[in-house]
Amino acid sequence: MISLTVDLGSRAYPILIGPDLLDDPRPLRQAIVGNSAIIVSNETVAPLYLERVRDHLHDLRHEAVVLPDGEAYKTIDILDPIYSALLKRHYDRHTTLIALGGGVIGDITGFAAATYQRGVNFIQIPTTLLAQVDSSVGGKTGVNHALGKNMIGAFHQPRAVIIDTRTLDTLPDRELSAGLAEVIKYGLINDVPFFDWLERHIDELLARDPAALTHAIQRSCENKARIVAADEREGGARALLNLGHTFGHAIETGMGYGQWLHGEAVACGMRMAAEMSVELGWLDRDALDRVDALLRRARLPLTPPTELDPERFRALMSVDKKVIDGNLRLVLLHGIGQAQVTAEFDPRALDRILANSAA
Ligand code: NAD
Ligand code: MG
Repeated sequence: MISLTVDLGSRAYPILIGPDLLDDPRPLRQAIVGNSAIIVSNETVAPLYLERVRDHLHDLRHEAVVLPDGEAYKTIDILDPIYSALLKRHYDRHTTLIALGGGVIGDITGFAAATYQRGVNFIQIPTTLLAQVDSSVGGKTGVNHALGKNMIGAFHQPRAVIIDTRTLDTLPDRELSAGLAEVIKYGLINDVPFFDWLERHIDELLARDPAALTHAIQRSCENKARIVAADEREGGARALLNLGHTFGHAIETGMGYGQWLHGEAVACGMRMAAEMSVELGWLDRDALDRVDALLRRARLPLTPPTELDPERFRALMSVDKKVIDGNLRLVLLHGIGQAQVTAEFDPRALDRILANSAA
């Protein structure tokens, strides 16, 4: 078992990575402080993995809340069944919420934990590649609003992240690729050796080679843990993790939640950020070609949906949380591994990218 730490002082927590960790009661039990727990999962993941988690809770008061599956359900309304389950049986402030599923379940459960009785403990058991490399680490929780992605939420760190790499065996291919988008993101932001490694090993990752997947998960979590520890609430460096996300969220919201997978939208968004960086003269074309080639090999989309015309795309981008006092800030590239958050760019470069995309 690989063990990493998210170094947040008194709120530091472990990320544990290994095959069949779901069968080991210790990581879970060490992270539970009270004597009750609620597992939140969805109707796809629960039949696959819920019983194995439940087995470790047999001597605690516990139950499971099984939600419908999908990004479209990541709304404020989905919280009610969780709060109701907690209140009906008088679960108190020492209860632990356990998120068992992908990023949607993790974000919802984390937000429920942040708000139930002003905050209870929670544990992440991420079961998609995307959740294992990104969303389960760092304490961003929340739900979508019809007018904007992840607009309602809270920072609330988990007490542990337990990653059973074998859960990826059942993940659909399209979801695996979506997760690879966030993996590639870390290389592009500031990890050139990892980007190089990904170029050499992308086919093994797609073939679900266990050693390759474990390495990619570990390296991604190390990157994320370091950035989160340096800037928990996104006052600075953490914003780099949003590479591709301002463009991507516009696609997700504009097309309707669940049409484009989050990772697919991020892949296309990273490609747009790279193309815009070329327009600005910050990135050379060879680097853009490398980005394109890697995303294409990972079976990710490179071009935005033609349904979104430039005006609508721009309007959707302006709802982003990176907009401060009306200024759109973007994560752009000076090279592979050299991302920068900035509002200082020629706005005509963005116009040209959006016009190119619509053509
Ligand atoms: P998801 O949670 O919708 O999971 C994808 C699909 O895979 C779902 O149908 C799910 O039921 C299914 N699934 C999950 N595990 C499975 C398994 N082991 N076997 C078979 N099927 C399985 O999507 P996701 O890509 O995991 O997460 C995307 C969400 O994460 C988005 O809402 C995004 O906004 C959020 N996110 C949050 C953060 C953060 O920092 N909090 C970061 C990145 C993304
Ligand atoms: Mg993301």
